[in-house]
Amino acid sequence: MSARPYDAIVIGGGPAGASAAATMARSGLKVLLLEKKIMPRMKACAGGVPRKAAEFLGLDLSPLAGPPIRGLTLSWRGEDARTVRGEEIQGWVVKREEFDRLLLDRARESGAEVLEGCGLLDLEDRGGRVRASTARGVFTAPALVGADGGGSLVARRLGFSRRRGDGFAIETRVKVSSRVLEERNGLLSFDLGAAPGGYGWIFPLADSLNVGVGTRRPPFKKLLGCLQAYLAREGFPRAAGKEIRGSTLACGIPPFGLQRGRCCLAGDAAGLVDSLTGEGIYSALLSGRLAGEAVADFLAGTAPLSAYRGRVRRKLGGNLLAARIIARLTDLSPRRAYDLSSKSDRRIRGAMAVVQGEISYFELLRKKIRPRR
Ligand SMILES: Cc1cc2nc3c(=O)[nH]c(=O)nc-3n(C[C@H](O)[C@H](O)[C@H](O)COP(=O)(O)OP(=O)(O)OC[C@H]3O[C@@H](n4cnc5c(N)ncnc54)[C@H](O)[C@@H]3O)c2cc1C
Repeated sequence: MSARPYDAIVIGGGPAGASAAATMARSGLKVLLLEKKIMPRMKACAGGVPRKAAEFLGLDLSPLAGPPIRGLTLSWRGEDARTVRGEEIQGWVVKREEFDRLLLDRARESGAEVLEGCGLLDLEDRGGRVRASTARGVFTAPALVGADGGGSLVARRLGFSRRRGDGFAIETRVKVSSRVLEERNGLLSFDLGAAPGGYGWIFPLADSLNVGVGTRRPPFKKLLGCLQAYLAREGFPRAAGKEIRGSTLACGIPPFGLQRGRCCLAGDAAGLVDSLTGEGIYSALLSGRLAGEAVADFLAGTAPLSAYRGRVRRKLGGNLLAARIIARLTDLSPRRAYDLSSKSDRRIRGAMAVVQGEISYFELLRKKIRPRR
């Protein structure tokens, strides 16, 4: 069978891949996106979409989500809970199977060809073209974006070794009464120390709660026990094994592996998850767009593909590095870190402002949480 030619190929149909494909299709390129699963597919995620991500997409997420998030609760191992509510919308909580399907549909509407149920099996970058082999044939293009998540086959084929610093998180959905749902409406809850070297969360969906735990510190097998203990402490039933989803938190250490030859990596494949919060959707969307723009420039002959690296570092590198440093400091003394971050409403609002994307970690450290005299 002869190889089918495209201008660009994207591997993976999550937020990073959908964003890259839509960007390139809009710039007039003939784009193929390969997604190994069939949408809607489940994806381990708490579904927290910060306001900056919704603004980036220009999307009203209300039809997919429960009431918008306007508040934050911080607690330490179930105790000492402090809540701050505000008027401003900080974000939404979505079901990833619905959110990702919407993004992939938008990529299709932009003109990208999407093949679902078609996983990449092998990759070769040779003779001025990249060859992507799948069970449904071989596809070729002069450039490829690897957006195939934390276990990225594209990254491995490009020779990027396993990242140091990856974490792990697991989650489940809990059905609760309408009264409990109402109490939790619009409120993200983080319980620091719910897992050693990490935290637990309760995020409200429209019809249920997303409850999970994540950590930066192995052994990750311990997380299962931490999740069950957290559920019990909050008065929720035990989760059955099949209802629990887990995945790597792909936290690279800048400078990341971002580009090699005619291929670049976006989203989790490049390790762009925030080490402190575990948030990666916004980075995936932004890096997907940057990758799409870099490929378009490269094919037009206006910039080398390596220009992508500098663009990602400028837009995301500083904040991801700051998150990593704060995470390391937090690990040294988690209880003290909790006391510092939850000491006053002002500090909790500072944390909220970072999560929603209003300010960066640097700004938070420089001015926002400095106590008033
Ligand atoms: C438990 C948990 C909770 C999280 N909660 C949040 C949160 O609340 N907010 C937030 O911002 N981030 C959160 N994250 C991080 C977030 O889920 C990721 O950063 C985000 O999904 C990255 O998007 P992506 O497109 O890079 O990768 P993914 O969403 O992982 O998409 C990759 C896609 O590639 C496909 N694929 C894989 N291999 C192949 C192949 N060989 N061929 C073709 N396709 C392939 C996969 O099927 C998948 O659809 C969480 C992560 C975890 C594990």
